[in-house]
Amino acid sequence: MPAQLIDGKALSEHIRADVGLRAAALTAAGRQPGLAVILVGDDPASAVYVRNKVRACADHGLHSVLEQYPSSLTQDALLARVAALNADPQIHGILVQMPLPRHIDPQAVIGAIAAAKDVDGFSLHSAGQLVAGLPGLRPATPYGCMKLIESTGLAVKGKHAVVIGRSNTVGKPMALLLLQANATVTVCHSGTPDIGLHTRQADIVVAAVGRRNTVTAGMVKPGAIVIDVGINRNEEGKLCGDVDFAAVSEALGEGGWISPVPGGVGPMTITMLLVNTLQAAEEAQ
Ligand code: NAP
Repeated sequence: MPAQLIDGKALSEHIRADVGLRAAALTAAGRQPGLAVILVGDDPASAVYVRNKVRACADHGLHSVLEQYPSSLTQDALLARVAALNADPQIHGILVQMPLPRHIDPQAVIGAIAAAKDVDGFSLHSAGQLVAGLPGLRPATPYGCMKLIESTGLAVKGKHAVVIGRSNTVGKPMALLLLQANATVTVCHSGTPDIGLHTRQADIVVAAVGRRNTVTAGMVKPGAIVIDVGINRNEEGKLCGDVDFAAVSEALGEGGWISPVPGGVGPMTITMLLVNTLQAAEEAQ
């Protein structure tokens, strides 16, 4: 028997319905939540991402502003725009789409975003809040993964979680969120000699690598939860994750849970950005 499916699309729709209600309540109180998205340069993938974010705002009653600049924009000019948006009372969240052109230091720009408006959760301030176990804005992708795990109804407390990948945007915050939820956490990366040794003991596996078949059937324990963050293409050009989905699902068995790609983590990422923007608006004075 295959594992039970963790349906990111359905969960995302459920959370978005709540976002719409909360946004309407704030709007009625004269405080419509607002997100500013800055895109520098003409990277086609980035253009699609920002369009989707702006559309998601419009669909759920959030105000949004998309500022697009040529790749020749100077760092000083970008910092000036961030400063203006920091001071704009209609804007509660600021997102600068990565990657930036090489002459701009991403940390300088992210660090210039007011802590209360850092809805990507990528600033050192937000990262520090997470490390310290303090409240704050959490990076959308790992935040979405936590919601997917919670949606199984199984407690995270006391579980052994293995995160594969240690990027600042996914793997590390994922490990910290699991730790905060009282899991015992192991982090694997490209220097880990035998990842299966760890994942076979895991109750929760989160794969965030960007390499197909990183997690195979022989690497999981029956009954575990597997969350697949990876985005890859197979030989036929079809979207797939880091997990060998069909075989791993069978190995997990009917007591296990698995998120698919597409339809798992992907839909949750923009949803959690909306949630963060709402949270920022609700907390704004
Ligand atoms: P990243 O910055 O490239 O980090 C990848 C991580 O995987 C690194 O920590 C790297 O280890 C580790 N790694 C690489 N090869 C490995 C191997 N053979 N065995 C074990 N670990 C290995 O990528 P990312 O931004 O974290 O994203 C990871 C994946 O998630 C990508 O496919 C990305 O497209 C996807 N993603 C999806 C969403 C979504 O919304 N669905 C959002 C963000 C990212 P080292 O640190 O040792 O190099």
